[in-house]
Amino acid sequence: MPDQSNRVEKLRESDEKYPYHSKSRVLKYVKCPRQFEYSYLKGYKEPETYPMRRGTAIHETIEDYYHNVSHYVSTYVIPPTVGQLQQFLPDYKRWQPYVEPFISNFLRFEARRLEEASSIETWLPVEVEAEGWVEDPLDQGNDPIPAMGYVDVIYHADSIPGLLDTGKVIVDHKTGKTPDEQYRDDGIYLQGEFYTMLFGDEYNITAVAGYYPKNDDLIVSTPSRSRRSDLLQTMGDIETAIEEDHVYLETDEQPLCKWGEADDEECSYYRICSSSWGEPLRHGDTVRKMVANGCSHGEIAAHLNCSYDSVNYAKYKLGLS
Ligand code: SF4
Repeated sequence: MPDQSNRVEKLRESDEKYPYHSKSRVLKYVKCPRQFEYSYLKGYKEPETYPMRRGTAIHETIEDYYHNVSHYVSTYVIPPTVGQLQQFLPDYKRWQPYVEPFISNFLRFEARRLEEASSIETWLPVEVEAEGWVEDPLDQGNDPIPAMGYVDVIYHADSIPGLLDTGKVIVDHKTGKTPDEQYRDDGIYLQGEFYTMLFGDEYNITAVAGYYPKNDDLIVSTPSRSRRSDLLQTMGDIETAIEEDHVYLETDEQPLCKWGEADDEECSYYRICSSSWGEPLRHGDTVRKMVANGCSHGEIAAHLNCSYDSVNYAKYKLGLS
């Protein structure tokens, strides 16, 4: 692990209800204010899932890979070749379950960077697991709530194919699937703006990206004033909700409430939330019977006390539409 301060731990242990903003907190609020409330104001823990464990293992593998790369370059005069990259991975037991497609694609990404970089120095990361803070992001002056975050890697732009050769590029490694275009604004692009806010004073950030080894995709965004304004607005909304001690923040009923019939295909808080989005999927057999009996969407929605849209979505997921 790189040197990181223990400031976050100390803030978490403090009596402050909401001691700092982070990328995860802001993105969760944008996704669903009620989910944010359950996670960060009420402190309800979400169970660890397989994708979370996989994500941690892959992130730690990549972090140690860069540590080994840096050690090699500082020790040997001859730069590594593409064929040598695999030897920088740590003990194979840690990454062997994720070779295909994650680790293989990550090595392809690294090979492309090695071929693109104008020197071995610009191929090396500038920082790995860098910690950034902004003390007064909303420019309030009085008892501000700071913003903080860790970024996976900061690269020289010179090593990233397809980008201008100047400045630095922040890259987060994402182990999920590449998001569709319609989900990027409130997800990977907003996250990129958050990171630019954290590191923009220290580095000339020319782009921010998410690398998705599952699909070998690099999704790049550039710093944006309008996105920064949306980000600050969201952080202000969060602070207002906390100051005014709101309880039961707004729900955003959507497919992320429940996306399949199985118990693990739903938001961690679905069973305690007022959302009714998932009712047709929780009662899939009832929906199947009602459809077979010729019931309309409206009749199914009235029977299950849920929205027309959620019935539509469930029919699609159940293969009935
Ligand atoms: S179930 Fe839906 S509305 Fe409720 S917290 Fe989860 S995402 Fe938000």
